[in-house]
Amino acid sequence: MHPVSQPGDDALVRHRCGVGDFETTICSDGTFLLDGGAMFGVVPKTLWSRRMPPDDNNCVLLGLNTLVVRTGTAVVVIETGIGNKVSPKMRAIFKNQQQLPRSLEAAGVHLAEVTHVINTHLHFDHCGWNTTLEADGTTTPTFPNAMYYAAAGELAHGRRQFERDAMSYLGPNYNALIASGQLTLVDPHGAGEFTPSDPRLAGPEQLPPIPICTELELLPGISVEPLPGHTASLLGVHVTSGEEHACYPGDLFPTHHHLDPTWVMGFDLDPLTCIGQRKKFLARAISEKWMVFFTHDHQMPAARLEWSDRGKPMVANG
Ligand SMILES: [Zn+2]
Repeated sequence: MHPVSQPGDDALVRHRCGVGDFETTICSDGTFLLDGGAMFGVVPKTLWSRRMPPDDNNCVLLGLNTLVVRTGTAVVVIETGIGNKVSPKMRAIFKNQQQLPRSLEAAGVHLAEVTHVINTHLHFDHCGWNTTLEADGTTTPTFPNAMYYAAAGELAHGRRQFERDAMSYLGPNYNALIASGQLTLVDPHGAGEFTPSDPRLAGPEQLPPIPICTELELLPGISVEPLPGHTASLLGVHVTSGEEHACYPGDLFPTHHHLDPTWVMGFDLDPLTCIGQRKKFLARAISEKWMVFFTHDHQMPAARLEWSDRGKPMVANG
């Protein structure tokens, strides 16, 4: 069996829609392959493989979706894919395309006009194009005029390099932003009591103190919300304009095949918390008719949701 691919799968721009007065576009860093078992945790293969057929290595095809929001005064980029810094050995495994800059260009987004970059978390497949590996071997901020935002707890966790997930947290994806003064860390409502000189954020390299933001609204119409489970400090990003609302919940729901609250990933650090967060999220998203963006769904990057006759969350028809 091979991954299901459909016509238009190589399209550089995956989706466009309006949210009130805002314009939202899904750009893409392309696709990558991950083990299907890891993507579906304890769900039996006989069930998940019907929805996401694996290839001969048991891998499923995943997207790397970047959401671009034009608010009229700001250009906001949410998530930046895998980037161009992974080793040749890992690229041979992931078979990723490193195409986000081309995708942004195809969507008419200039790197220099981006004002804000938001990472839901700092795993390598969500912040790779925060920085660009240049031909001379240096790493530079991809969006030269943007302020970048990530959760303070994510950076603190990544710096600790725990054996469970050390390989997901790569300093070259964010250290250049700390050095350039472009990174602001979000500590929602100050709950983590982070300060710019907090030792949890220090080193190993000598880097300047990082500004801390405790507000959830980062700019008018764009706010973040803690959605713990996949990681302890995962942030969802809400987009609100007029009466309309959209949300990018990051790896809370990696694809629309993960809508069943119990279909959590093997990667999730706290699956029970994840299940609880998913139930709360679905109740709001369905009753308030949110547009929901899926970070790793190449075929369906965005959808509204509804309850099925059997009370299960599903993609809404029409
Ligand atoms: Zn991910």
